[in-house]
Amino acid sequence: MSCGRGAGRMFGSAGGTGAPRQPPRRFLHVAPHRPLPLTPPRSGTGVSALAGHVLVLNADYQALSVCSVERAVGLVWLDKAEMVEARADRALHSTRATFPWPSVVRLRRYVRVPYRKVLLTRRNVLRRDGHRCVYCGAGERLTLDHVVPKSRGGPDAWENLVSACTPCNNRKGNRTPEEAGMKLSKRPFRPSHVMYMRDLIGTSEEAWKPYLFAA
Ligand SMILES: [Zn+2]
Repeated sequence: MSCGRGAGRMFGSAGGTGAPRQPPRRFLHVAPHRPLPLTPPRSGTGVSALAGHVLVLNADYQALSVCSVERAVGLVWLDKAEMVEARADRALHSTRATFPWPSVVRLRRYVRVPYRKVLLTRRNVLRRDGHRCVYCGAGERLTLDHVVPKSRGGPDAWENLVSACTPCNNRKGNRTPEEAGMKLSKRPFRPSHVMYMRDLIGTSEEAWKPYLFAA
């Protein structure tokens, strides 16, 4: 689905009755900071008309960042991004048209970004594991466990560190999960910064999931 051109038509001022004819470079007269001609949804719930977040994908569909709805609409309007997913339960209104409420947009041009590493810290391992023991699911007295014990060559690495409650950690001792007869509920992995962005926002939109967990 590509709404870039359509968005330009909807919100450009060319073509209105009595409006002066616009030059062919139709986007150049739009100052990037100028507010979009949008009015709040009629069935307002008291929240800001453009409240919410939009997942921004790079041209190769890799998740890049999260931005505001207003910013995303601006990118689509300026033809710098295309709409990939829109929310079915919401719409934006201009004076003459209805515009889909963006949920995921994709930049038309590839942006080269330095790889952003998530720091390997106790706090980030617990966040990755949902603040649950990977062995029993307990949410209290959490510690870090080396799956392959450090004394046996297990590295300090995302793939070898999990959150475990103190009782499970003590029971496991200096053994591997197999030796201790304990099962990991999931295989430890290196998280992406996008996964943590999702946490920060506090909501995980269904439409984002294919792009956040594609790998
Ligand atoms: Zn446990």
